[in-house]
Amino acid sequence: MKNMRIGIIGAGLGGLSAAARLAHAGFDVTLYEQQASPGGKAHSLSVDGYRFDTGPSLVTMPFVIRALFEDVGERMEDYLTLHPLDMLCEYYYPDGTRLRAYADPDHFAAEIEAVTTGTEAQLKRYLDYCRRIYSLTADVFLFRSIHEWRSLFRLSALTTLLRLSSIDALRPMRAAVDSFFTDPKLRQLFSRYATYNGSDPFRAPATLNIIAHVEYSLGAMYSDGGMVSLPRAVARLAAAKGARIVTGAHVERIALDGRTVTGLTVDGAFVPFDRVLSNADVKYTYERLLGDTSAGSSRRQRASEPSSSALVFYWGLRRTTPFGIHSILFSPQYEREFEQLFAGKRCPDDPTVYVYISSKFSPGDAPAGCENLFVMINAPHDAGQDWDAEIHRMRPVILSRIREAAGVDIEADIVVERTMTPKDIERATGSSFGSIYGIASNTKFSAFLREPNRSRTYRGLYFCGGSAHPGGGIPLVMLSGKIAADLIQQHA
Ligand SMILES: Cc1cc2nc3c(=O)[nH]c(=O)nc-3n(C[C@H](O)[C@H](O)[C@H](O)COP(=O)(O)OP(=O)(O)OC[C@H]3O[C@@H](n4cnc5c(N)ncnc54)[C@H](O)[C@@H]3O)c2cc1C
Repeated sequence: MKNMRIGIIGAGLGGLSAAARLAHAGFDVTLYEQQASPGGKAHSLSVDGYRFDTGPSLVTMPFVIRALFEDVGERMEDYLTLHPLDMLCEYYYPDGTRLRAYADPDHFAAEIEAVTTGTEAQLKRYLDYCRRIYSLTADVFLFRSIHEWRSLFRLSALTTLLRLSSIDALRPMRAAVDSFFTDPKLRQLFSRYATYNGSDPFRAPATLNIIAHVEYSLGAMYSDGGMVSLPRAVARLAAAKGARIVTGAHVERIALDGRTVTGLTVDGAFVPFDRVLSNADVKYTYERLLGDTSAGSSRRQRASEPSSSALVFYWGLRRTTPFGIHSILFSPQYEREFEQLFAGKRCPDDPTVYVYISSKFSPGDAPAGCENLFVMINAPHDAGQDWDAEIHRMRPVILSRIREAAGVDIEADIVVERTMTPKDIERATGSSFGSIYGIASNTKFSAFLREPNRSRTYRGLYFCGGSAHPGGGIPLVMLSGKIAADLIQQHA
């Protein structure tokens, strides 16, 4: 095993996590990243004294990150500093109501009772229900492969898979939320968690309510130095364990002998490998790196509905705003928002707006007296839309939503402006259709449609990252890196 050469394509958080684990286990690991630095979707952008996290802005399931460091014999604190958020998010409603979601459950319950018609009892009952589903599903759907017989033969795994009703997979997420809360504001708030994996709360199975448990009961964090400090820390960890990380290196082809992987072609040169782990998008890997559009998994991916994407404005302001670190400015027409996203494949006319300001906790991210706003709306996956026209259409709508919610007109104070569209996400990271989280979880079978972490078509090919099992989002892609690394070791 010591001499077994592993080639990894992509330095997203999935690929980096796997690189650290495999190098620690004694494999000879080389990771190729086409960008100039690691991170993938978790990147950073610096312009005229403003620094922006380009992608993720919230860390959940921090124990997954800690476990990575501990599993390879290191202390997370030597690489990365995470802080728990006391207030997870501030919610602004169209009627002027403002609701603060505190991390402390009693404080949050008191806020709900003060601001809405909801009650502490409703909240506790709902969070208990979310915890129950999490405890039934997490071990099967998140922490292991669901495609390997070895995992599935465990009695608890089989029982969970067969009891779809006990994990609430038979009704939509929104229907379940409605059964716990009568207040429309709370119904909207708790439905929102479907967007954490790019899905539609009105269609996704209620099993996705586990996301509320993850945020309210398992902790949500921010990271010193912004989100980009996470991939940087994991890259340093992988390098410390002996992995070679080659940036600015484009993998053009996965080389084969029949159906067995033999290496990679990187910028025109062949490099032999015994195993290849792709952290690149699954569809892209099959079609572009293997030239295979007929493999079962590739077909399955094409038949699946891509997750939603994002339209992001990065605004450097020469002023401050009343917003906290994380704010949601809700749309008055939530159901219509998802119809327009998924059926209409257009940015919602009246979108929910998310504002994240890292300079609130990292003052160096903006000049003194200024702020760096990451302003995001849900966008459909790329289907050939005119994104310049969408930017033009959505910009005034977003600015007016900010004006109504926070009572500030920021337009004249925007001194730095950049944007990111689904097309840009596809260009930068290879994500098919620019979707953020691989495929959407809009049906009860979505979990089974994600690519297995070990290819069934090509010997020696493995997958990790948002388009593979168990799905997108930081903790999940880091778990996919672990599952893939474990499988490589088992089959070494
Ligand atoms: C706007 C936005 C907001 C988000 N918000 C959150 C959030 O708040 N919380 C959260 O948990 N998640 C969030 N996410 C999702 C999260 O960022 C992703 O799920 C995660 O970072 C993806 O990691 P990954 O391992 O799938 O790899 P990716 O980040 O997709 O990286 C894949 C890497 O592979 C490289 N690559 C591809 N092809 C090749 C090739 N041929 N040769 C060499 N290199 C190649 C790419 O350059 C890229 O660096 C957000 C994402 C976006 C875009």
